[in-house]
Amino acid sequence: MIVLLSLLAIGAAAGGLGWPSVLVAWLLLMAVVLARRPTIVNVEAPTAELPEPDVYDPLPTIAATLAAIDSPAFVLDAEVNVLAQNRAAERLFGVLPAGAHLTGRLRSPGILDMVRETVATGEPNQIEHSERLPSERVFIVRVAPVDYPGRDDPMRPVAGPLYLMVFRDISELRRIDRMRSDFVANASHELRTPLASLRGFIETLQGPAKGDPKAHDRFLGIMFDQATRMSRLVDDLLSLSRLELKAHIAPDQTIDLVPLIGHVRDALLPLAEDVGVEIVLHMPDTPVHVLGDRDELVQVFENLIENACKYGQEGKRVDVYVRHDAAKAVEVSVVDSGPGIPAEHVPRLTERFYRVSVADSRSKKGTGLGLAIVKHILTRHRARLIVKSEIDKGTEFTVRF
Ligand code: ADP
Repeated sequence: MIVLLSLLAIGAAAGGLGWPSVLVAWLLLMAVVLARRPTIVNVEAPTAELPEPDVYDPLPTIAATLAAIDSPAFVLDAEVNVLAQNRAAERLFGVLPAGAHLTGRLRSPGILDMVRETVATGEPNQIEHSERLPSERVFIVRVAPVDYPGRDDPMRPVAGPLYLMVFRDISELRRIDRMRSDFVANASHELRTPLASLRGFIETLQGPAKGDPKAHDRFLGIMFDQATRMSRLVDDLLSLSRLELKAHIAPDQTIDLVPLIGHVRDALLPLAEDVGVEIVLHMPDTPVHVLGDRDELVQVFENLIENACKYGQEGKRVDVYVRHDAAKAVEVSVVDSGPGIPAEHVPRLTERFYRVSVADSRSKKGTGLGLAIVKHILTRHRARLIVKSEIDKGTEFTVRF
């Protein structure tokens, strides 16, 4: 603009306008142009404080995710303070105020050492931990750093390193493991006893009793009984494993319980006579239908009525009631007037090899597996076994379909 005005002024002067008037006009126009130009001013930076940049806090998101998990879980900071805990953790350890140190609830030195090691190394760790109260439980406790988004972003101030500690309940797995190994030990023990006795008798027959026909007869009789006991045991074990294989397949035949229980009574008559017991049936005149597997239901009622005859023989009578009500619920009860079962044994009767008295069961040709088989069959039939017993009065086993 300044150059343009200067050129115009030179042009005007050359064109014949007088020098003084051109100079005055040029000066005036220059003053106006310069006055309109923006001035560059050094402005001081404002002294008021800028608002804090947003602190990204991952805790609410992590806590909301934990709330959806049913294993106990905690979010910890590097000082092992609890920043968040989910419902499952509250149920197991009680509510901890936010920010409280973990030792407020968990004193286990193993867990604390593990968390400190993870804080120091940044590596996940896990240990096994058991809780005795309210009931014995075993957990795998794992702690790991939480790699939340923006954790390593230098431009983004974050809430510090966080650690996630989760409890995985393995009590049920442990119980099944223990049951499995107990079962193998029990089965081997049950087979070893008759086997040892068979070997003993064979050695005696080969040695000291070699030429003794009387001893032969007696020992062979005992050997036969022992071999029969072993095959009963193997049969029961095979029944159990077959039942386990089809535990999830519900039976679908329609069975009338009235003739079925009549058949079981007939089959057990010789045993009942042997022990001096009368089996009395109380059944409706109409059919009582259930969905079931015929052979398995025969096995259930054979086991229950046989037990009532064997263990309740002093009552001299076993009553079997078959009932069905308007709501179509079907119940079969086997009642004896024997010595009864002490209350502390009742909840364990259906465990494999559980017997109130081992000697009593063995003398009555028991394997300790009868009620375990009954329970397996009834589970497959979606039916329940209810046991009521009173000392010196007798026992009632009820199957409710
Ligand atoms: P077992 O082969 O020993 O008879 P079961 O599983 O059938 O095994 O029964 C387990 C135990 O339950 C028996 O050893 C016995 O002690 C007890 N029991 C079962 N039925 C009766 C009953 N009616 N009266 C008393 N005790 C019983």
